Amino acid sequence: MCGIIGYIGERNAGEIVLHGLKKLEYRGYDSYGIAILADKLEVIKDKGKISDIKEISEIKNSFSFSAIGHTRWATHGMPSRENAHPHFDCSGKILIVHNGIISNFPELKKELASRGHVFKSETDTETIAHLIEEELKEEKNFEKALRKATEKLKGSYAVVAIFSEEKDKLYAMRKESPLLIGIGEKENFVASDISAFLKYTKKAVALDDYEYAVIKKDGIEIKSLRNGEKV
Ligand code: GLU
Repeated sequence: MCGIIGYIGERNAGEIVLHGLKKLEYRGYDSYGIAILADKLEVIKDKGKISDIKEISEIKNSFSFSAIGHTRWATHGMPSRENAHPHFDCSGKILIVHNGIISNFPELKKELASRGHVFKSETDTETIAHLIEEELKEEKNFEKALRKATEKLKGSYAVVAIFSEEKDKLYAMRKESPLLIGIGEKENFVASDISAFLKYTKKAVALDDYEYAVIKKDGIEIKSLRNGEKV
């Protein structure tokens, strides 16, 4: 299990996420990835070390609404660029980073593939993005689709998701893998480990199992994955 960091606020999200990823390096990893949400979603990912990133000045100078970062310790699929997180759905609007293991992913992947979903990686993680996309066809509401998707997931997860149609939000959910929300002034954070955002805030709240958070720059809502009620 490696690391996750997410940021939403008025500062340079890419720079904050890059700092967070460096703080998470001690946990060990084989690949890294960063997604920056500006007018469109930009993704930088590869196997190897964060210090290998060539686009550092682009990351530091880009305008953005939010960003998420991930360090991967491969459990399903070898370390490679294709298998590095983040992972997308087919529409390219849903983007996921994940720590943990989706134990029923072979069944889910088969079912989703039979419905026309095209997979680009060998990871268990990518099924989460396609599953939410599938639920979104019925629900027409990202939050509900996220909850419906988790009813079908077995295993462990700390997930942070971006839905590019909702630029003012990050979504985070957890089961058996740690995830903390960092609370700032007109900015908020999410990470698997407090060290990733400790430079910016010392106020944090831990998500419990089967909880999710809707994180905006000026507020956080924590709800139950089981029924959507606030906790
Ligand atoms: N199971 C996922 C993968 O192999 C996530 C691994 C992790 O926690 O870094 O990509």
